[in-house]
Amino acid sequence: MTAVATGVGAGTLAPVRAFDAFLGDPADDDAVISTSRSVLLDERSAFPDDEITAVTAFGLQRWYIPAAHGGALTDALVPLLMIRHLARRDFTVAAAHGKTFLGAICAWVADGSIATRMAGLVETGGPVSWGLTERGRGSDLSRSATTAQLGADAVRVDGGKWPINNAVRCRAMTVLARSDERGGPRSLSLVLVDKDEAEPATIGYEPKVASHGLRGANLAGIRFEGSVVGPDTVVGPEGHGLEIVLKSLQLTRPFTTGLSMGAVDRALQTALDAAAVPDGAHGRLLDSPTARRSLGVAVADALLVECLMLVGVRSAHAVPAEMALVSALVKFLGPDTADLLFRDLTRLLGARALVVGTETSGALHPSAFGAFQKAARDSRVVGIFDGNSVVNLNMIVNELPNQLRPAPTPPLAEVLAPLRADAHFDALDTTALRLVTRHGSRLLRSLPAFVDAVDDGRTSRAAVDAARWIGREYTALLVEAETLPRQSQPDPLAFHLAERFALVFGGACALAVHLARADSVPGPLGDSDVWLAAVLQRVANRLGADPVQAPVADALLDAAVRAHAAGSAVTLLGSWTARS
Ligand SMILES: Cc1cc2nc3c(=O)[nH]c(=O)nc-3n(C[C@H](O)[C@H](O)[C@H](O)COP(=O)(O)OP(=O)(O)OC[C@H]3O[C@@H](n4cnc5c(N)ncnc54)[C@H](O)[C@@H]3O)c2cc1C
Repeated sequence: MTAVATGVGAGTLAPVRAFDAFLGDPADDDAVISTSRSVLLDERSAFPDDEITAVTAFGLQRWYIPAAHGGALTDALVPLLMIRHLARRDFTVAAAHGKTFLGAICAWVADGSIATRMAGLVETGGPVSWGLTERGRGSDLSRSATTAQLGADAVRVDGGKWPINNAVRCRAMTVLARSDERGGPRSLSLVLVDKDEAEPATIGYEPKVASHGLRGANLAGIRFEGSVVGPDTVVGPEGHGLEIVLKSLQLTRPFTTGLSMGAVDRALQTALDAAAVPDGAHGRLLDSPTARRSLGVAVADALLVECLMLVGVRSAHAVPAEMALVSALVKFLGPDTADLLFRDLTRLLGARALVVGTETSGALHPSAFGAFQKAARDSRVVGIFDGNSVVNLNMIVNELPNQLRPAPTPPLAEVLAPLRADAHFDALDTTALRLVTRHGSRLLRSLPAFVDAVDDGRTSRAAVDAARWIGREYTALLVEAETLPRQSQPDPLAFHLAERFALVFGGACALAVHLARADSVPGPLGDSDVWLAAVLQRVANRLGADPVQAPVADALLDAAVRAHAAGSAVTLLGSWTARS
C-alpha cells in the first residue's frame, strides 16, 4: 500500500513517501526489500548487495548531501524518515547505506573545498565510512594511535581502525588520526582516505567481525600501512579532528533514532499482528488483560522514542548550540527505551520471539518472527555506536552545571515552533554547533511551563497528573544536581542522576510534541490525548511512580490497533507513511 499525500507537511515529506512506494510491500517477495529475503540473508550473515544497489539507484545518498553542496538535504527529518522506512524493512540495509551519512558529516561540519569533494564522492553512491575507534581503545577517541603525517605535498596515514562498518566495501573513509605526537586536544586531525587515490597495496583488512546483530554487515578492521593521499584531503584545519568529530556526533546521535524507530515499527507490527490471531489454548493476546497492558506500554515506549526522534532532529536545526546536551539525552534515552520495548515484547511473544528463519507462523507472514528477532538483535547496536550509553550519560553529567545556570526561558511558542507540523528547515547550521552549551536545553528548562500549559481544563486528568509528577521530579533533580561534586570521573550516583534527567527530558519531549502538534496527530492516535497520558505515566513509572494505569494502556492499545488495521504505522507524525 502506498501512502496518500495529505495534510500539513505533505509537501516536505513527499520524497519520504516516494521512497516508501519505491521500496514496496516487504511482504511481497519481489519487493526491493522483502522480509523473507532479509531474514534469510541475515541467517547466512550475507551482505544485502541487491538491496543496497537498488537503494543507491534510487538515489538515497543525495539526501545525505546538504543542498548547499548540490544535494537534496534541506530538512533533516526527510532522510531520517527514509532511514526509518529502510530500517523497518531491514535494519542491516539501513545501517549499511546510512553509514555514508555518518562518514561524510565531518566534511559538512568542516565546510570548504573538502565538503565539495565529499559531495562529489557521496553523489557517486560509493560508500563512505567513518574510522574513529581502534581496537582496545573503545570510546576514548583522544587515545587514537593511528597517525597522519601532514606534509605540504601529501598526507601519509599509518595505523588501524576497528570495528568499522563498511570497512572493506567503502570507497573512502574519514579517518581520525594523530597529527601531533605531543598530545593534547589539538593533536588529532581528520583525513579523507579515498581508496581510489591511495595505493591499494597500502590498505589491508582484518576478517569480518561476526556480530550478534547486523550479521550481514561489512563490519571489519582496516589497516593503513603508509597510505598516501594528497594534501587537500585534510578535513578541517590541522589539529581540529577531535573537535569536528565531537560536533558531528551531535548530529549523528539524533539521526540514529531513525534506526531505532525502524526496528520499533517492525516490533510493534509483529506484536500487533500476532496479538490479533488466536494462539492455541491461549486464544488471542488482544483478549488478555495482562497482554493488553504490556502491549499498551510497548506502544507508549514506541511513541516516546518517536518524540525523542522529532525533538532531536528539529533541535539540530533550531538550536544547534544546545546539541551537546540534547544529542546526549536523545542518544541515551532512545536506544534505552527501544531495548526495553524489545525486552517486554520478547516476553509477551514467548517462544515465537526467538524463532529464526522463515518458520511458518500460522496466519502471519512466514518471516514475521524471524524479522522480529532480527530487529531485536540489530537494534541493540544503536546503544553502542556513535557513543555508547555510558558515554552519553557522562556527557549529561558534564552538562548539568550549564542546565543549572540561571537563564531566561524563551516564550513557549518559540520553544514549540520547531516541532510544529508546518515547521520546515532549509539547512543544518553546522557553524553554530558548540562543544558545551551555555545554558543546557531550553526544552528541558521549559518543562514547568509545559506542565502549566497542559493543565488547561481540556487535557485529561491522567495526562495532567503524570505531567505534574514529572515536573516535581525535575525540580527535585535540579536540587540534587546542585550538590553534586565536580569530578573528572563522576561517581555512579551522578550517572544515576543523569539517567533520571534523561527520563524527565523524555517527558518534556512528549509534552512539547503534544503542545506543538495537538491538531495534527493522525487519527486514531489524535482522537484523544491518551497517547500523552500513557507516555507520561510510563516515564513517571520508570522514575519510580505507579505503573501505567490499565484503562490508559487499554485505550492507547485500541488506538494503535485501529491505526495498524488501517495500514498505518503507529505514529504521531502525520503524512509520512501508510504502512506498506
Ligand atoms: C555494529 C557496530 C558498528 C560499528 N561501526 C563503527 C564505525 O563504522 N566506525 C567506528 O569508528 N566505530 C564503529 N563501531 C565501534 C563503536 O563505535 C565502538 O564500539 C564504541 O564507540 C566504543 O564503545 P564500546 O562500548 O565498544 O567500548 P568502551 O568505550 O571501551 O566501553 C566499554 C565499557 O566501558 C565503560 N565506559 C566507557 N566509557 C566510560 C565513561 N566515560 N565512564 C564510565 N564508564 C565508561 C562502559 O561500561 C562501557 O560499556 C561500531 C561498533 C559496532 C558494534
